[in-house]
Amino acid sequence: MRNFQSILVTGGAGFIGSTLVRKLLERSDISRLVVLDSLTYAGDRRNLSGPDQDPRFHFVEGSINDPELVQKLLKDAAITGIFHLAAESHVDRSIADPANFVHTNVGGTSCLLDCARLAQVPILICSTDEVYGPTPVHTTFSESDPLKPSSPYSASKAAADLMAIAAVTTYGQDVVIARCTNNYGPRQHREKLIPRFVYQALRDEPLPIYGSGQQIRDWIHVDDCALGLIAAYEHGTKANVYHIGASSESTNLGIARRLLKTLHKPESLITHVTDRPGHDMRYALNVSRSLQILGWKARIPFRTGFSEVVRELASDLRPAD
Ligand code: NAD
Repeated sequence: MRNFQSILVTGGAGFIGSTLVRKLLERSDISRLVVLDSLTYAGDRRNLSGPDQDPRFHFVEGSINDPELVQKLLKDAAITGIFHLAAESHVDRSIADPANFVHTNVGGTSCLLDCARLAQVPILICSTDEVYGPTPVHTTFSESDPLKPSSPYSASKAAADLMAIAAVTTYGQDVVIARCTNNYGPRQHREKLIPRFVYQALRDEPLPIYGSGQQIRDWIHVDDCALGLIAAYEHGTKANVYHIGASSESTNLGIARRLLKTLHKPESLITHVTDRPGHDMRYALNVSRSLQILGWKARIPFRTGFSEVVRELASDLRPAD
């Protein structure tokens, strides 16, 4: 079992990272938690208000691409484990600017893996279901399925996973990979599907749906995902991949309709726009290994969790009176 004494979370000022920080601080076996985040447009220090009042919490503004900084941090804070979430995470931006995704997601992960190896610290890599490419209907991907990413974002995440696997094979490094499905929850950046739709709906502006809107995603509440990441770090075996999903599939059109219903807005706000290039039709993961080995299961039902999150996002994004 891995040690929780002094934990480093990269990308902790982002959406999933800021929830993970909250879940980690609920544990009594953590005596220090350090967030390393470069505060790109996607990171926000305010996402950590609350946790930053905990005496065990420390924030370092800096990049995972900076080996001197990371090495010093691992040493000075006597880090015993790393949760690696820092990334460029928006598919549309990756289509416009792939180089930035290669720099952070591949170069940054490689740098972090190297620093973790030198310091002999275990590392959990937070990856995505998108690395497998589209899932055929009536099937789910298992952890050993080949990687066939479609977008520059998913290709950069797949490359990061391969660097992690190579680190295990070459150096015997203690690395675990968790591949997560689509998260919904509070503190997500407004460029992402659900916060964006909430924002538009509150202003009675059109909700732009790519193509037919029949793209299927498995939606997991971010609290469940964070607990899955912790379980993968705690119970996952070195070199293994674990799937963190809720087996709760919905089309993008279904998401838009449910969201409008929750906010008492008309479906006429839905507008179809030209599909995103390389847009995968479906992602679905087999989570049975995680259920068995990690003793973890997504617990928040989409039906109730989604409406609650939409109402919470709406109260944050409501237009000023
Ligand atoms: P996010 O964009 O909300 O947060 C990313 C964070 O990383 C930001 O705070 C940003 O400032 C920070 N960051 C970026 N580059 C950095 C660098 N070089 N050094 C340090 N910090 C840097 O992303 P998210 O949605 O919270 O995703 C977190 C992780 O989970 C990512 O690795 C992503 O690929 C993965 N993931 C996300 C989802 C999802 O649905 N959101 C699903 C599966 C996997």
